[in-house]
Amino acid sequence: MKDLKNFLADLSEKEQSESGVQYKNALLQKEILAYCIRNEKVTIAELSQYTNTSVPKVNDVVSELLDYNLITDLGKEIIGVGRKPNFYGLNAEAGYFMSVEVHRHHVNLALINFKEEIVVLNENVPFQLQNTKTCFEELCSLIDSFLNAQHQYVPKIAGLGLTITGRVNHKTGYSYSFFNFHEEPLSKILEKRFGMPTYVENDTRAMAFGEYAKGCVGDEKNVLFLNLNEGIGMGIIIGGDLYSGKSGFAGEFGHLAIFNNEIICHCGKKGCLETEASGAAIVQQLHQAIRKGTSTILTEQECIDDIQVGHIVDAALKDDSLCIELLSAAGEKIGKGIALMLNLFNPELVIIGGELSRAGSLILLPILSSINKHSLNLVNTDTEFKFSRLGTKAGVIGVSLLLRNELLGID
Ligand SMILES: [Zn+2]
Repeated sequence: MKDLKNFLADLSEKEQSESGVQYKNALLQKEILAYCIRNEKVTIAELSQYTNTSVPKVNDVVSELLDYNLITDLGKEIIGVGRKPNFYGLNAEAGYFMSVEVHRHHVNLALINFKEEIVVLNENVPFQLQNTKTCFEELCSLIDSFLNAQHQYVPKIAGLGLTITGRVNHKTGYSYSFFNFHEEPLSKILEKRFGMPTYVENDTRAMAFGEYAKGCVGDEKNVLFLNLNEGIGMGIIIGGDLYSGKSGFAGEFGHLAIFNNEIICHCGKKGCLETEASGAAIVQQLHQAIRKGTSTILTEQECIDDIQVGHIVDAALKDDSLCIELLSAAGEKIGKGIALMLNLFNPELVIIGGELSRAGSLILLPILSSINKHSLNLVNTDTEFKFSRLGTKAGVIGVSLLLRNELLGID
């Protein structure tokens, strides 16, 4: 039985073919698939109008897509008086994508179907991110184990999407901050290792795209997505497109040098927002406060060395005053950075995502009050603020969407 992988192989043959007819057919197939991706149920008449193509021609292409099992026949439905058109929709089981989200202290691995539904999700798999070959091998072993456990899906997995912190150029597949010790780009290394097409993207940009396509974004086209985690990143969507910059380095929000401090950031500079308000900085501030004798419920629950920002958020939600104060101070500083972005971008929507967003109003209120202090009133009243709806799933969904669009050559 044919599936997404057969379709992709034939598509690339048609696109390289000398024949204009084959090439046009590939374009129309992609256009129709893209429409089916955006719409739950479609009719031939609708597709004909959308693609400006005759009904018989659309019928042919729909038959081809049915033959590849990429779409299914949903049957007839009565609309209005007496009209009973036939509906078609994506077939969730046409193919699968594997998503790997690499964090500093854990990895999330997921299997996503063709309709972008999560089929399997292994969250918080223990992992310590280091820029070493051993660490890269450990990551590959985790992917191997995941694939072994999902062996029944493996023949239908069409590609691998991986997100990682730091500077990533998704076009070339190079990751510059981590695992950059091969001559070839990281995407090529993974592609050879796992035998499937691979898409590598910056973690925050993948989350932003996931949230944009499947999360809390409605009709907004100009959106900033904040990833408040161990580090601080920003995904920028302008006019409905994910903005990566010339080489994929856009959105280094955490490295805005807006503080006059002597703390050296991991980027090598001083005064970055990350040195004051990232999850890693908040953990450092907690350690300092504990050393000075401030009490917190965390010292009763956790070994001090094991405390991560997630524990601080949990403690704040349990009314721990030190953790509430630390989050409030961080929110104030993050708000100062967002104020700069509002003045520059005038976005319709700012989404607060990442681990710190779990703190809810404990982080949002200080952010908003700081924005009022630091940005132009006319500009900030134009912008709505929302929390991420996909939460920890934004990245695995986002990267598989980007991978799917790349494989199918659609936006
Ligand atoms: Zn920095």
